Amino acid sequence: MAKSLYEQALEVFGYAADVMNLDPNIRKFLERPQRTLIVEFPVVMDDGRVEMFTGYRCQHNTARGPAKGGIRYHPDVTLDEVQTLAFWMTWKCSLLNLPYGGGKGGVKVDPSKLSKHELERLSRRFFYEIANFIGEKKDIPAPDVNTNAQVMAWYVDTYTMHAGYPALGVVTGKPVEIGGSVGRNEATGRGVAVTAAEACKILGKDISKATVAVQGFGNVGSFSAKVLHEDYKAKIVAVSDVSAAYYDPNGLDIDDLIAYRDSHKGFIDGYPKGKKIGHEELLELDVDILVPAALENAITEKNADRIKAKLIVEGANGPVTPEADKILLSNGVTIIPDILANAGGVTVSYFEWVQDLQSFFWDLDDIRSKLTKMMKAAFNEVAKAKEKYNVDFRTAAYIVAIDRVAQAVKLRGIYP
Ligand code: NAD
Repeated sequence: MAKSLYEQALEVFGYAADVMNLDPNIRKFLERPQRTLIVEFPVVMDDGRVEMFTGYRCQHNTARGPAKGGIRYHPDVTLDEVQTLAFWMTWKCSLLNLPYGGGKGGVKVDPSKLSKHELERLSRRFFYEIANFIGEKKDIPAPDVNTNAQVMAWYVDTYTMHAGYPALGVVTGKPVEIGGSVGRNEATGRGVAVTAAEACKILGKDISKATVAVQGFGNVGSFSAKVLHEDYKAKIVAVSDVSAAYYDPNGLDIDDLIAYRDSHKGFIDGYPKGKKIGHEELLELDVDILVPAALENAITEKNADRIKAKLIVEGANGPVTPEADKILLSNGVTIIPDILANAGGVTVSYFEWVQDLQSFFWDLDDIRSKLTKMMKAAFNEVAKAKEKYNVDFRTAAYIVAIDRVAQAVKLRGIYP
């Protein structure tokens, strides 16, 4: 039987735990998700029918602070996926030294089949169902796949109506007008670009001469492409989304593609410039840097051997399976793991939360420079652990992250 996503994630964790000689008592605790809430809730559709939906919120570990992590709307959302994503958030928050534990949520739904009013009713009802679990000192959700600033605004409003005060710090990724942070939208992509540049330095590669393929053209993929091109002068030769993939060896115009996507219901299919290629072909292009920024399991043991890029920067969570990881490493591919590469989003989410709690807001230059500093610091710590333990970047990142959570558990002790 195929391994569940959580089992795959535990394999990666287990390898790092072995290398660092993690205390077996702490290991037992860290391997399990602390709490998971499952909700089944009704939504009145526009035609008067009632439809039932299933949603989840998981808090994997809160030893270092309140749970933090996005909420995803997707027809393939499962308990296994949400618990795994929460598990990864624990390590990501720890790696960036944010005072948070790991959380994640999701609703099993295809939002493209809902009207805006149906989406609003679904969002408000789901947030009401999980509200007792949530709070600015308990668990702070954020956007993920198919959720955005508008959905966060509905969550804040719903929570506020029940709490009786404007609870702006209860989610991050909000519109700037209601306590959101400037620079949050681009943050994950910017972090991907910063880590790609740091990796190029270590590999002795000039990023301004690098070619890049990006899988996924949503929040993470499009901003990764934009910042890699604008700030680092890399050439983005291919991008894809669920609808299509395009290639231009001379470089695609990313702003033009974003404008096309935004005026075509969020999809790039039909883009008139560039050659249309297959989804698999994009992953296998002869480029310097590959940024998988769509969903889990994009690179598996089936296609790993055909990947030609020598540097993979994981924009998505879990895009490379453990089996694929082994094949890629033995082929000399450097992989900058998700918990490091895509941590820019949760880092600026942290900035947003701090700004909300203080009711004092920072400007874009401030956000960008603080983000870049923190991403570089985390990268350097991982690079040091990589040397010390003689392991790959992923194992090194887990060692740094697990060690901090283990220290917190040790200091706090096991209750009672
Ligand atoms: P999004 O919904 O904005 O974009 C997802 C993109 O992937 C869309 O363009 C979609 O069309 C595309 N896609 C889906 N299936 C595909 C396929 N088979 N081939 C090619 N493209 C495909 O979501 P997002 O927020 O950009 O998240 C993408 C990934 O990044 C997820 O793994 C998410 O968990 C992770 N992530 C997001 C953030 C964030 O701040 N948004 C932070 C960290 C990690």
